[in-house]
Amino acid sequence: MALLVQKYGGTSVGSVERIHAVAERIGSYRDRGDQVVVVVSAMSGETNRLETLGHEVSEYPSAREMDVLLASGEQVSIALLSMALIDRGYKGCSFLADQVGIVTDANHRRARIQSIETRLLRKALEEERVPVIAGFQGIDEHGNLTTLGRGGSDTSAVAVAATLGADECQIFTDVDGVCTADPRIVSRAQRLDQITFEEMLELASLGSKILHPRSVEFAGKYQVPLRVLSSFEDGPGTLITKESSDMEQPIVSGVAHTRDEAKLTIAGVPDVPGVASKILSPVGHAGLEVDMIVQNTGADGLTDFTFTVKRDDYDRALGILDNVRETLGAREVSGDNRIAKVSVVGVGMRSHAGVAAKMFDALAAENINIQMISTSEIKISVVVAERYLELAVRAVHSAFELGEAPVDKDD
Ligand code: ASP
Ligand code: MG
Repeated sequence: MALLVQKYGGTSVGSVERIHAVAERIGSYRDRGDQVVVVVSAMSGETNRLETLGHEVSEYPSAREMDVLLASGEQVSIALLSMALIDRGYKGCSFLADQVGIVTDANHRRARIQSIETRLLRKALEEERVPVIAGFQGIDEHGNLTTLGRGGSDTSAVAVAATLGADECQIFTDVDGVCTADPRIVSRAQRLDQITFEEMLELASLGSKILHPRSVEFAGKYQVPLRVLSSFEDGPGTLITKESSDMEQPIVSGVAHTRDEAKLTIAGVPDVPGVASKILSPVGHAGLEVDMIVQNTGADGLTDFTFTVKRDDYDRALGILDNVRETLGAREVSGDNRIAKVSVVGVGMRSHAGVAAKMFDALAAENINIQMISTSEIKISVVVAERYLELAVRAVHSAFELGEAPVDKDD
């Protein structure tokens, strides 16, 4: 008998039929004797619909009210799933976050979980109930509803699992696990049996949409074994766990990509102390997230400074840089919002040289120009023109031999 926290995402509870299928699945774990705590997202498309609605009513919707609106999607799915469980003879019992006591800070739309009460949940488990908790939401110390950021119900599930000391946190989704690359781009991408928290955190932050990065961070911090698996078919999924010496360590575990990027260059800025700060401070103050940063070696006392931001922030960043250009007397501001980022991730990189060279060779062989590079201990990212994204992902994936062996036609 195990204590499992199971999270079902939007597509897993996206229709009446799917809700029944999920109730069946939960029931099969209960029949086996497991204790199950369920966390659910809103039905697929619902949070988007609510967000659009909010923006239709108000140009700058109040963040507090937006949270109340967005959190309503999960209220629907917990009730429906609990009903489906009850109809099957299981004691499904829905809980909103404030009923459980999921306390967050007061940052509306991107709140962070601070604590979770366990009393009610433990009592429900003792009474053989199946608690069905609304993901994505919390309550601040003043009783205001908050949400954790889009995709945040993964984090709700991991936090509940950590607090209850669950044996495993299972994230059920519409794919069968974490793959070596996006299977829509690389048809030979394979499901990984295992991956470390660190690698998964990099992949999630570098564009893999499968898990909310915060949830992986949380799971790593509290050492909650996390498994990604399909709610549509049976299978072992991918276990995300701490690095162990007997784990086979491929040099590169996966390739991630994101299209959501734009780069900006301010050219001919004085090469003196304080310039980077003068350029990036106003960008930071405007709440724009800066990712990669490159400053060229100066010549004639001048230098060029390039950085990337999210594509949605491109126009605002351009506006800010134009002001900076005037203040600094820089030559010009330019930019490109049709770029993409391709990254390779693997803990094995720590002990192997030549990974970057191999990645760059693969891109060179396809004649793809690398515009920017950034590295950390376990990842290498490059920026390329968006139109080469798919080609780049495929080239790198095959250079590191991450795919399934090609099927032999003679077999
Ligand atoms: N329903 C929320 C969203 O769509 C939370 C989640 O699905 O994780 O972002
Ligand atoms: Mg999700």
